[in-house]
Amino acid sequence: MNKFDCVVIGGGPGGYTAAVRASQLGMKTALIEKESLGGTCLNWGCIPTKALLRNAEVIHLLKQGRTYGFNFENLSFDYGAAHKRSRSVVARQTKRVSFLMKKNGIEIFTGSGRFKDGNTIEIESSGEKLQAKHVIVATGSKPRQLPGAAYDGDKIINFRRALELKKVPASTLIVGAGPIGMEFATIWRRYGSDVTVVELLDHALPLEDASVSLEAEKQFKRNGIKLHTGSLVKSLDPTESGVDITIESGATQENLSVNTVLVAIGFMANSDNLGLNTIGVKTTNGNVDIDDHMHTSLPHVYAIGDVTGKMCLAHVASAQAVIAAEAIAGKPSASLVYSDIPRCTYSSPEVASVGLTENQASERGIEVISAQCPFVANGKAIASGDNSGFIKIVADGKSKKILGVHLIGEHVTELVAGPTGMLSLEATIEQLGNTVHPHPTLSEALMEAAHALCGHAIHI
Ligand code: FAD
Repeated sequence: MNKFDCVVIGGGPGGYTAAVRASQLGMKTALIEKESLGGTCLNWGCIPTKALLRNAEVIHLLKQGRTYGFNFENLSFDYGAAHKRSRSVVARQTKRVSFLMKKNGIEIFTGSGRFKDGNTIEIESSGEKLQAKHVIVATGSKPRQLPGAAYDGDKIINFRRALELKKVPASTLIVGAGPIGMEFATIWRRYGSDVTVVELLDHALPLEDASVSLEAEKQFKRNGIKLHTGSLVKSLDPTESGVDITIESGATQENLSVNTVLVAIGFMANSDNLGLNTIGVKTTNGNVDIDDHMHTSLPHVYAIGDVTGKMCLAHVASAQAVIAAEAIAGKPSASLVYSDIPRCTYSSPEVASVGLTENQASERGIEVISAQCPFVANGKAIASGDNSGFIKIVADGKSKKILGVHLIGEHVTELVAGPTGMLSLEATIEQLGNTVHPHPTLSEALMEAAHALCGHAIHI
């Protein structure tokens, strides 16, 4: 039987990162993947959506051609070409992961891994068995289904089928106005689809600071997306040509017919069919229970990424992966502060945030101070032609420590790493304000918001 120091089940950003780190730390490492290296993130998530969003951004720019002095006739957009580009980006990235595995001497096994006993993993179909001193479970998650509306891969679809489509549906209903729903809404709307989004909670991007959610809603509507917040999909009936839908918003009901429904209402851990219960690994609502160093209830079994249900983000999976591998090697690293992990939505407008929202800080009894710097006061934003949105800082009125930073506008997902560092170093608004930011950049709005909080803004 093949014997390993560490066997990783699942080759997504959690699994492949864990395998590389384990190998770097001197462990004989195997990785089992049933489908494609790179997992959801590289194949059907983060990367292909960003390739399509880039196409959507270029369309938007081309449509504004006159502003920049371009004239052209017969402008047309080929979604098929955009789809092809997104798949070639995926192919390049997954090839890189294969290369990383080879370079780090990691043995790859193809098939579904399942615990035969606490230290033996059997690979379905080949029947191969791997003996493992330590196991890292990194099997990811699957999309939640809307009750009473099973995915049919045709009219009612999930993100994966949506990324397989080579044509944009003429009309779409997206259920869920979270990051994934709004990213698809942005892509499809830019390619001309008639897009309606229904969100059960009171706002789009409901986990963001309330001021950001409101601004985002305003801009989504300006982009032609029909948004129903605080609303419920009451019924959903597939017809020959599409789906008939009833949306309930308070006391009113609205009927509409669309070609395609995309359900984007969250994820469930891929923890069944692994034999976890039989070996004694505890789960809660399907999520594998872990401690700060990713140990499960069995000391030699670890879990990372979406299967833990902590925060379904690729960078969380990768960060957990490093912690797990280092814990196995007896070199435990600092534990993760989940509230200090940045969150990004790559829709138009982009949204990014780190730390507490103003409401969360107030609910903790903190004497909150906050200030915004709008991009209308920022030279780079005006020069680039999009000065919508703002950067908001939430701070502790007594200690002056930064508690949260919330950004909405062009390219803000590229700006959030700086404030993330400030937050983890427990910086104050004065320290941020005294940090000279380069001119002209969008990041100056961050410094300006800090100046505003200190009572001496220059440009607003
Ligand atoms: P996964 O990436 O899901 O990988 C798990 C792997 O395990 C899969 O390859 C699967 O085939 C394999 N597997 C499962 N069971 C077994 C088994 N029994 N044996 C062998 N292999 C198995 N996150 C971000 O941070 N930024 C984004 O911009 C972003 N965009 C997204 C867009 C979309 C449309 C979606 C759906 C998700 C997005 N995410 C994003 C979330 C991100 O993709 C996930 O959080 C991330 O992929 C989780 O990594 P993971 O390693 O835990 O699991």
